[in-house]
Amino acid sequence: MIITKTKPFEEILPFVEGRKNIFIVGCNVCAAKMKTGGEPEVLELADRLATAGHPILGWVMPTAACSVRSFDHLVEKNEKIKDADCILVMGCGSGTSVVSSVTDVPVTGTNDTMSLGGCLGVNPSENLCVMCGECNIGDFSGICPTSRCPKSQMNGPCGGSKNGKCEVMRENDCVWYLIEKKMDSIHLMPMLQDIQMPKNHKV
Ligand code: SF4
Ligand code: SF4
Repeated sequence: MIITKTKPFEEILPFVEGRKNIFIVGCNVCAAKMKTGGEPEVLELADRLATAGHPILGWVMPTAACSVRSFDHLVEKNEKIKDADCILVMGCGSGTSVVSSVTDVPVTGTNDTMSLGGCLGVNPSENLCVMCGECNIGDFSGICPTSRCPKSQMNGPCGGSKNGKCEVMRENDCVWYLIEKKMDSIHLMPMLQDIQMPKNHKV
């Protein structure tokens, strides 16, 4: 089971600022067990957002956020997601990455992913999340450079990125090429001007 911890509400608020159609994707497996993304937590977050002046458009509970296979998979459960202009994922970093991969709107996670905890059948993809404990995947709209860049480059590509490809894993796209492509398509390139500070890995 993936161990997650709910982020402080104040850290989630800036992401929804200026958004009209906020949508929540919960997780009915690990996050539900951790009480960080099950139905009660989804409803609680929806309530807090509404109280703060950000009523949500809708929500869904896929079996697991990391099991989402397509946008249609989410539409089948709640077609309001088609009108979302941002998505909050109440799962682990892998779940947030997976949801981000099926949509063109900004995506962030509401949890920090801490560790694997124990092996109970659902595993994060190492490629998508290395459980760093201080999730900032929303700053890159759901594409995590900590886990997907071999050098964990947090402030832009290294000097070896060439033609959109990674110099270390040449068969892969450079994660910064993917981040810039998505941020450009959703008009959020200015966010990449913010300098990312080193993470605090203290437990
Ligand atoms: S920043 Fe990346 S590695 Fe850290 S918890 Fe989020 S998705 Fe996982
Ligand atoms: S080329 Fe891109 S993905 Fe590869 S190490 Fe450099 S910044 Fe990271």
